[in-house]
Amino acid sequence: MEKIVIIGAGVAGVNAATKLVDNGYPGDHITIIDMGNDPYKRKPEEVMTGFMGAGGWSDGKLTYHTSIGGHMSKYCGDEKAMELMDQVITNFKRFHPKPEEVQCSNPVAEPDFIKPYFGLRLFPVWHVGTDYLHEIGKNWYDYLCDKGVKFHWNAKVTSIDPPLNSVKYNTGTIESWEHYDRLIFGVGKSGIDFGKQIIEENNCPTEPKPVQIGVRFEAPQKHFQKLIDVSYDFKLYRKFEDEGVSLRSFCTNNNAAYVALEETYGDYSYNGHAKKDEVYRNDMTNFGILMEVRGIDKPFEWSRELVSKVQKVDIVPGEGAAGTRAMGRRQAKYKAGLYYSPWKNEKEGVINRLKSKTSEGDWVKAHYITEKGLQEVRDHFQGYFKYIEDFIEDMKKVFPTLGDDWGMYIPEVKYLSPEPLVDYNTLALADYNNVHFVGDALSARGITVSGAQGTYVAEYILKNNE
Ligand SMILES: Cc1cc2nc3c(=O)[nH]c(=O)nc-3n(C[C@H](O)[C@H](O)[C@H](O)COP(=O)(O)OP(=O)(O)OC[C@H]3O[C@@H](n4cnc5c(N)ncnc54)[C@H](O)[C@@H]3O)c2cc1C
Repeated sequence: MEKIVIIGAGVAGVNAATKLVDNGYPGDHITIIDMGNDPYKRKPEEVMTGFMGAGGWSDGKLTYHTSIGGHMSKYCGDEKAMELMDQVITNFKRFHPKPEEVQCSNPVAEPDFIKPYFGLRLFPVWHVGTDYLHEIGKNWYDYLCDKGVKFHWNAKVTSIDPPLNSVKYNTGTIESWEHYDRLIFGVGKSGIDFGKQIIEENNCPTEPKPVQIGVRFEAPQKHFQKLIDVSYDFKLYRKFEDEGVSLRSFCTNNNAAYVALEETYGDYSYNGHAKKDEVYRNDMTNFGILMEVRGIDKPFEWSRELVSKVQKVDIVPGEGAAGTRAMGRRQAKYKAGLYYSPWKNEKEGVINRLKSKTSEGDWVKAHYITEKGLQEVRDHFQGYFKYIEDFIEDMKKVFPTLGDDWGMYIPEVKYLSPEPLVDYNTLALADYNNVHFVGDALSARGITVSGAQGTYVAEYILKNNE
């Protein structure tokens, strides 16, 4: 039996280990190394690391569709992908303290009023419940420990030596090595730079990646209610095949919807999240309008440069918008992205749809821009901004009360990690067929696909060890 080392106790790594021991693979031949904590010690603020990784403290929405959450079907076809995702969902229910409370929402019909302007992606979502994820994690961890799986916690892997089949990890001051016959690399988004390092050090060929960039759109929820009633987390989409561009609404938040500022590589972009507690209700809706652009040379560098151009360092009014009397109060200079709303009164430059506030009651950090600033944004997007503006124009037709009652935060960006070229049957690197990439470290962007990739590799290992 081969000795398996899994880097990352995230959704992908944990599902891989589970598939192995469920099928009789000896647990004491499996070692999982993670830089976070076990589920008993993991704190809520440890969002990305520890048992079940980013999935452990996530929204717990298990999407069930081959075109959501990253790539699975491209490796094994749609039917197999769905079967693998089923296994992941079953695991979440299996370790759930109250499996009967796992709800499935499954909108089935595309409403006529959004046609012909948009398609609406309809797919089932299993709602595990964020609160239960902690309990699921403990039950799941206990099961793997009982089966003899070994864990190293607070242990950061700092290097891999594929020719020598060895990994080096660090637990504070102590450095240790672990030998493997087979390595599963599932470091998720928190290990994005480490993944990049491994790919570069080993000259691994990578798959070309598209650019994913756009804006975070925000408006009062009432304008979208008709669609929210059909699909809470609606996903509008459209494709311009010949131009290599597709657009989708991304991560829709309602009821208590807040825009969040993200910092990556020293620049700012926007995202959104929803609060559950009624006290946070603001009756707003926000979602990303994300463009996927294919065929851009060096997409990562292209996105980085564009993001860096739509930033501003300026004084931002404490309580008011550009042109209002509050402007200039509490004058602290800071860097942030941009906010544009078309809703103006007669006095040119006065924006009436102000930015919203965070759940802590502070104004979202973004610099107001007017039509002149928007023209600069269009220039920076090199012709691609028109797709976003057309998307908004068509939303105004589909949601007639929307009009100019909206604002957008610029930019929203998804930096896709470089994806190593792998053998589609094993997810192993071309030059090292015993090093398998899985989860967000490969091409997943969600729980079910990450878990499915881990399971897929485990199935290969089981067959290989028969
Ligand atoms: C706030 C939030 C909410 C989300 N909500 C949802 C949702 O509702 N539905 C959904 O489908 N997806 C959601 N996601 C995305 C989802 O969590 C991820 O796609 C999924 O967890 C990826 O699984 P993974 O196993 O690839 O990586 P992760 O789950 O991120 O696990 C990676 C693990 O690797 C470890 N690691 C990283 N580097 C090293 C290293 N050098 N050495 C040792 N260990 C290392 C980390 O500690 C971590 O535990 C959410 C993500 C976040 C951040």
